[in-house]
Amino acid sequence: MAVSNSEWENWLDRLYNLRRDKSGSHERPHKPALLLSIINLLDRGIITRNEIPLSDELVAAFKRYFAVVRRENDQPTIQNPFFHLCGDKFWRLVPASGERDIYQEGSVSGAPSVAELRRRVAHGTFDAGIWQLLSEPVARHQLREALIARYFPDDREKLAAITGAGAKAEPVVALREEMPPGRDSAFRRTILEVYDYRCAACGVRVLLDQCMSLVEAAHLIPFNVSRNDKPTNGMALCPNHHWAMDRHLIAPVPDGKKRAGIWRVNEERLDDRIEGQRDLVAIAGKSVIPPGEEKFYPALESLRWREEHLVTIH
Ligand SMILES: [Zn+2]
Repeated sequence: MAVSNSEWENWLDRLYNLRRDKSGSHERPHKPALLLSIINLLDRGIITRNEIPLSDELVAAFKRYFAVVRRENDQPTIQNPFFHLCGDKFWRLVPASGERDIYQEGSVSGAPSVAELRRRVAHGTFDAGIWQLLSEPVARHQLREALIARYFPDDREKLAAITGAGAKAEPVVALREEMPPGRDSAFRRTILEVYDYRCAACGVRVLLDQCMSLVEAAHLIPFNVSRNDKPTNGMALCPNHHWAMDRHLIAPVPDGKKRAGIWRVNEERLDDRIEGQRDLVAIAGKSVIPPGEEKFYPALESLRWREEHLVTIH
């Protein structure tokens, strides 16, 4: 990615702090839902340029996301985020020919109707910096993960089903982690530190305020099977890759050359022609992004356990 770390963190920071309406303590989900919808259309190749019209496809995607994340009396009004996202200063509405700017900074007026937006606005457009991230598949995947982690952590599985990754995963019951209290946080802290808060599959690294990390500590052989919480039985993964590994859709497996292992995907259950599964299939054959020190590299027996379960569980 041609984006520097500080630039990346700057964008995450802005996405983590979208200005949102509140109803009591409930923050409205419209803006992050709109961003997820746009990301969805980018993944599907429906949007290819930095010109995002208020199209029927965008409205349909927004409704699908909204149905999952809505709470209380939230209404699926796409015109609100499409219009008010301008206030976050990385999104602009380009007037249709002969029209004037529709968004006035500081104005507290409500959003125009969908029909009026369609008549007066040619399309929305992103600031070049965030567009660079959105137009690149890996960075886009990371942005989607960050948005879900920040705004909709409880809806992760349902949101994954919308993008397709969950569709085939239903039959397998994941081996849930059962850790005694206290041990879990020590394991987590160690794994995140030795992997420098980076997902060993996709490389996403998010660390805010030195304490909040998007990345999770995953056991290779589950703790309730192995009772082993040494760092060599763990790996730092973003929620998406943790979820997929728990369901044996992907696995780090031993490799003759790469000491930390390489990624394999379950080809019977994943299809790179299906949106949402493409991201997972894309890591096939990639090396595990190793921890800083070799003594923390995944143990061979842990990689073997993952390999066996990838091919035997369908
Ligand atoms: Zn990842």
